[in-house]
Amino acid sequence: MTSFDTRFFVIGGGSGGVRAARIAAGLGASVTIAENFRYGGTCVIRGCVPKKLLVYASHFSQDFADAAGFGWTVAPATFSWPKLIAAKDAEIARLSAMYEKNLRASGVTVLQGAARVLDAHTVEVNGQHYRAEHILVATGGQPFLPAIAGIEHAISSNELFELPQLPRRVLIVGGGYIAVEFAGILNGLGSEVTLSYRAEQILRGFDDDLRVHLHDEMVKKGVRILLHSEVTQIERLSDGALQVGLRDAPNNGVRQEVFDTVLYATGRVPSTQGLGLLEAGVALDQSGGVRVDDFGHSNVPSIHAVGDVTNRIALTPVAIREGAALANSLFGPKPTAADLTTVPSAVFSQPPIGTVGLSEAQALATYGQIDIYRANFRAMRQTLAGGDERTLIKLVVDSASQRVLGAHMVGADAAEIIQGIAIALRMGATKADFDATVALHPTSAEEFVTLKEKTTRTRGD
Ligand code: NDP
Repeated sequence: MTSFDTRFFVIGGGSGGVRAARIAAGLGASVTIAENFRYGGTCVIRGCVPKKLLVYASHFSQDFADAAGFGWTVAPATFSWPKLIAAKDAEIARLSAMYEKNLRASGVTVLQGAARVLDAHTVEVNGQHYRAEHILVATGGQPFLPAIAGIEHAISSNELFELPQLPRRVLIVGGGYIAVEFAGILNGLGSEVTLSYRAEQILRGFDDDLRVHLHDEMVKKGVRILLHSEVTQIERLSDGALQVGLRDAPNNGVRQEVFDTVLYATGRVPSTQGLGLLEAGVALDQSGGVRVDDFGHSNVPSIHAVGDVTNRIALTPVAIREGAALANSLFGPKPTAADLTTVPSAVFSQPPIGTVGLSEAQALATYGQIDIYRANFRAMRQTLAGGDERTLIKLVVDSASQRVLGAHMVGADAAEIIQGIAIALRMGATKADFDATVALHPTSAEEFVTLKEKTTRTRGD
C-alpha cells in the first residue's frame, strides 16, 4: 500500500466516475480523479440535462397555442436560440462547477487532463505518473457516425448544443432516443424536421404499441418521418446548404434533398481510444467497451469500469449505481453488484415515453401466456386546448401469476408517472394490486389503476 500515490484513481468525471470517487473517499480511501473535458460528463454537459432544458424550451410553442382555448390571448411569440443556448450554458457551467466542488469537498484530488493507463497500477496525466492500487475507467461514450461520403458535413448531438443559430431545415438520421428527442425539440422550436430511419419503425426494442403511437403523434405535430430510409451521401453546396442523397427502399433510386443541418443520432460507442487499456492487458469487446463482471471488475484485477464505457445499459442512473457498487466493493465491508432488475427509462420525445419492465414481445417470448391492457385516450387538457394528441397507457401481465411485467406510457408526464410505477413493479405488484389502488382523479395516471379490457396472448398462437 505504501508504494501507491493513491488508492483509487478514477478516469472520467461523469456520473459513474464522480459517484465512485465520492463514495470511495467517504469510505476512507485516498482518491484521485482526472477529466479531460468538463466535470459532469455527458449527462450534465451535453446529454440529459441540456437536452431536458431544450425540451422545456421547445414545448412553449405548443403551450402558447393551447392557451387560446383556455381564454388567453397571447401576443405573437418570438424565440431566440442564442438566448436559450446562453441560458443553458450558464446552467451547465454552474452544475459542472458544483461537481468539482463536491469532489473536493469529499477530499478527492481533482485533476484536469487526459489520462492514460501505463500498466495495471500506473496512470499518466499531463506527463505525471500516479501509482494507484485500483484504477477505474469511467470515460463514457461518444457519438458514432457511419462512414458515408460527406459525413464530415454532419453533426452529432454534441455540436447541436453549440449551434450559433437554430437551423431552418434539419435532417435527423437515426430512430433511437437521441433522434426522436431532437426531432421533438427542433420541431417545437420551429425548424422543419425530417427524420430518416433505416428500418420499419422508430425506437427498436421498445414496446411496439409505443413505437407506432409515438410515430403517429410526431407526424401529427409536423415531423416528417421517412422509414426504410437510407442516406447515401452528403454534399455541401456553394451557398452552405447540404444536399443529401436519400433512398427510401433498397431497390429505389436516390433522390436529392437540401437541408441546413444534418444531425446524426446513430448510436454511441465506448470511449476507450488512446487510454492504453489493450496494452495494459484489459479485455475489450468488439465496440471497444471494457468487459467487466457484475461488480465492474475487468480481467485485470486492479482495473475496473462502470457506465457507458462498459457498453451495457447506457443510462446515467445505471452508471451511478454501478459506480457506487464498485466503490463499496473495493473499499466497503463486502462486495456488492448494482441491482439492475427494474430499470425504468424515458424518452423525452413529444409526447414523452415512460417505460419499465418487459415489452409485449419480450414478455411473450419469456412467459407462456400474457394479458394485455390498453387505454388510448385524449387527455383532459386537450379538450379546451382543442388538440388531437392522444395518450397511450399499457400494462403487460403474466396470465399465470397475474404479476405486472411491464408498464408503458406515451403522453404528457409519462416519465414522472412511470418512476412511481417502477417501484410497484420492483415489489412484484399484481394486476389486482393495481386495481385495488384508489385512482387519483382527474389525472392520466389513474388509467393505470382502472384498466379493464383484456386481450390474452399465448406464445406460438
Ligand atoms: P440508440 O442506440 O438509441 O439509437 C441509434 C439509432 O441509430 C437506431 O435507430 C439505429 O437503428 C440507428 N443506426 C445505428 N447505426 C446506423 C447506421 N450505420 N446508419 C443508420 N442508422 C443507424 O442511440 P442514440 O444515439 O439515440 O443514443 C445512445 C444511447 O444514449 C441510447 O441508447 C441511450 O442508452 C442513451 N440515451 C438515453 C436517453 C434517455 O434516457 N432519455 C436520451 C439519449 C440517449 P437500428 O434501430 O436499426 O439499430
